Amino acid sequence: MQRVYNFSPGPAVLPLSVLEEAQRDLLALPGLGVSVLEIGHRTKWFEKILATASANLRALLSIPDNYKIVFLQGGSRLQFSMVPMNLLHAPESSADYIVTGTWGQTAAQEAQRAGATSIAYTAKATNFDRLPSERDLKLNPEAAYVHFTSNETIQGVQFLEEPAVGKVPLVCDASSDFLCRPLPIERYGLLYACAQKNAGPAGVTIAVIRDDVLAQCTDEVPTMLSYRQYVEHDSLLNTPPVFAVYIVMLVTRWLADEVGGLARMRTLNEQKAKLLYDAIDSSEGFYKGHARPDCRSLMNVTYRLPNDDVETKFLAAAQDRGLHYLKGHRSVGGIRASIYNAMPLAGAEALAQFMDEFRKRA
Ligand SMILES: *Cc1c(COP(=O)(O)O)cnc(C)c1O
Repeated sequence: MQRVYNFSPGPAVLPLSVLEEAQRDLLALPGLGVSVLEIGHRTKWFEKILATASANLRALLSIPDNYKIVFLQGGSRLQFSMVPMNLLHAPESSADYIVTGTWGQTAAQEAQRAGATSIAYTAKATNFDRLPSERDLKLNPEAAYVHFTSNETIQGVQFLEEPAVGKVPLVCDASSDFLCRPLPIERYGLLYACAQKNAGPAGVTIAVIRDDVLAQCTDEVPTMLSYRQYVEHDSLLNTPPVFAVYIVMLVTRWLADEVGGLARMRTLNEQKAKLLYDAIDSSEGFYKGHARPDCRSLMNVTYRLPNDDVETKFLAAAQDRGLHYLKGHRSVGGIRASIYNAMPLAGAEALAQFMDEFRKRA
């Protein structure tokens, strides 16, 4: 078996022990004799998987009882619509969007189809290389909610702490940094994350919703788009993505049992990110980071090389060394190294070492 270091932004690297257990269960679940791909979603087995995944998330993030956890489909992109459809219904109501990258911008655009929105901040003018300070935010104290993106996957810009929004419910797209560190969950009204960056495979999206925000949701939406319906039916409105939920259960168990929790995960993530940012900062300008140093992401490290030609050579030489999927998104260019939870320290070490060697040769 030949595995490479996978720096893909998503679907992304998963822990090897998770893949090994899934491989075993793909043929037959112990004691049941059917594959994890063949089992019904109304079975005792799946009820337990769903409850365990939910309990693991609750324990890892210390989620209090006044928050509900649901498993949804349609990816984070559907949340861009579900959030305003559920929460932006009262006449005259409007929602604030803090736009620090491509995903936040897309979320704001999509929300306009459902209701009135206002851009509380955008860093578009500097190609999303920074975060707002508190006084940059033009917040409406009467807004239905404030939406922000905790980690902009394409630009590599990450909030260190939650924006201060007063009493207005804070809604977060945490797709690409979910479970990378502990969170003060009580600051959030609603937090959602598709699984395929840090929590599992594509096909399931997790949402954590506070009771008062749930109470604010309208019933005038299709059943399959109603947070309240998902809560009332324990995420079993229709056939859920059984396999994806099962992998989320395994990944959250790995985080608790093998990693040792989210504080430990954050320390490991900081170590990995530091290796790469040090390689950028000690390169005498050969590598140029996209995000400003005060908002650099722990998950997606974005940087450019002197020109396109050198970048193409870098990508080819990296691949020869088993360092794959490093090409940056076209809107930023250059390199993007996604170093999610499951990327081992050795992967970041190998990339940092390669960066030093490549620079000295160039
Ligand atoms: C990947 C990503 C999305 C899109 O997720 P889908 O599941 O493909 O819809 C949205 N927001 C952020 C921050 C992402 O990283």
